[in-house]
Amino acid sequence: MVALEQALGPDGVLTDPASLAEFRDPFAPAGQEWYEPSAVLMPASTEEVQAIVRIANEHGTPLWTNGQGRNNGYGGPAPRLSGSFVLSLRRMNRVLEVDEDSAWALLQPGVRFFDLYDHLRATGSKLWMSVPDLGWGSVVGNTLDHGVGYTPLGDHLANQCGMEVVLPDGELLRTGMGGMSNPRAWQVFKHGCGPSADGLFSQSNFGIVTQMGMWLMPPPECYMPGWLTLRKDSDLELLLEKLRPLMLDGTIPNQPMIINAVCAASAFWGRQDWFTGEGPIPDEVIDRIADTPGFGRWVMRFALYGDEPVVEHQRRKVEAAFGHIPGAAVTFSKYDGRNLPELTNPHERVQAGIPSMDLDRMTRWYGGEKGGHIGFSCAMPITGQDGAAIRDMVASELHAAGLDYSGVIIVGKRHMIHVGLVVFDTEDAAQSKAAYDACKRLVGPAAKLGYGEYRSHIDFMDLVADQYDFNNHAQRRFAETIKDALDPNGILSPGKQGIWPRAWRS
Ligand SMILES: Cc1cc2nc3c(=O)[nH]c(=O)nc-3n(C[C@H](O)[C@H](O)[C@H](O)COP(=O)(O)OP(=O)(O)OC[C@H]3O[C@@H](n4cnc5c(N)ncnc54)[C@H](O)[C@@H]3O)c2cc1C
Repeated sequence: MVALEQALGPDGVLTDPASLAEFRDPFAPAGQEWYEPSAVLMPASTEEVQAIVRIANEHGTPLWTNGQGRNNGYGGPAPRLSGSFVLSLRRMNRVLEVDEDSAWALLQPGVRFFDLYDHLRATGSKLWMSVPDLGWGSVVGNTLDHGVGYTPLGDHLANQCGMEVVLPDGELLRTGMGGMSNPRAWQVFKHGCGPSADGLFSQSNFGIVTQMGMWLMPPPECYMPGWLTLRKDSDLELLLEKLRPLMLDGTIPNQPMIINAVCAASAFWGRQDWFTGEGPIPDEVIDRIADTPGFGRWVMRFALYGDEPVVEHQRRKVEAAFGHIPGAAVTFSKYDGRNLPELTNPHERVQAGIPSMDLDRMTRWYGGEKGGHIGFSCAMPITGQDGAAIRDMVASELHAAGLDYSGVIIVGKRHMIHVGLVVFDTEDAAQSKAAYDACKRLVGPAAKLGYGEYRSHIDFMDLVADQYDFNNHAQRRFAETIKDALDPNGILSPGKQGIWPRAWRS
């Protein structure tokens, strides 16, 4: 601690209970021992990050890196290994450069989505960015955990270009074209010449990213957010079959989000506004929710972008495709993307890359301010069969645990992520336990159907990693080989994604 305080100054090392409380899992279950940091380190520069890893190596101190640490639903800022020092990069919050011509930004890891948006507007940039449903997270942190947004740049990792990384021994590495000392293409060409290292630093514990390039996009002439509502639960299958070709051929270029009626309701109401009984919310109540104007058993938000005649053509294609689903309703709004009015609907904002916090209330379905959720998030192809299989499996497991099924499907070009938003009241010890247990019970059966999680809560990271079992867990053995070579003292984020340093493996 003395060495760290000397390196970072008194503001850079926090140990008081109030500061530590900020870095706990906000959705930790009541009355259970959970994942606790023992100190928080807040470097203000790359040099300070390097100093931290050197000191940590000398003393064998485990560190747990995060950007803003808002990874709520997956453990928030809390470390997988209790007692680790959280290395928070919140003070490294500068937008280093924006290139208006080639549409990219170079960011420090503490830059929030709000900060990048404000920077673009304050500097007169016309460029659009991508943003998740909550704008308070770190662009770099979200991207490194494979986070998603909802403009055509919504696959964040696919739209990063060029990283600067502090390795576990304090060495500084730049990926891709950044391997040159005077690159012209670091933020525009990903591959460099030779092995591409970028992927090694996402969802890993091989380095601390201190800079990252993110691609932006020119504003579209026409921005057309749309809604689709479905009458029956089983219409989901047909929707997915109709949606896949529209994703593959680029008619819908962003990441549509499909949510069930319970999830849609949680953006507006608490559960008690609909049902106060025991057990999962009954089907007839869900039907009543679905009958609310603008709602359905499933609702999809999506958007079209581009020159107006192209967007009008895309709209007709979408209407024709979804016209085959009996009872489906499609509606659109239309805006000039270069001169957007003040958008008040959070869904229209997020699909235009404008950050907000409105949808945070979805975690308050049970328990009001003390509500929480766990993301149980599997990847699969966009097919009706897969959608039905995962929906039925997650719903029946949650119902058996007495919990409601709040379902979200985020659709990419060839895949979809089904997120079971496992909502619970963090102050209800029995319900919290039921929620975490249900998630863990789902991991194995989902894997048997071929569904692996794309991201995981710290509480079941090892279990998720276990499912990646091809050839006697060759992926894990490969990761461990790299881990042992780069980080022999095992100081960086032990246990992240089931990758443990040698000293901790037994
Ligand atoms: C209501 C609600 C809605 C949500 N909606 C979305 C959504 O639409 N899309 C989405 O993706 N998520 C969503 N989330 C999940 C989560 O809140 C966001 O992904 C959030 O952006 C993650 O927090 P962060 O950006 O601060 O990342 P951090 O917590 O800072 O980082 C996440 C992880 O990345 C790694 N990491 C971070 N920084 C570094 C670094 N510099 N070097 C090396 N490793 C690093 C660490 O392992 C860390 O644990 C939602 C959560 C809630 C509660």
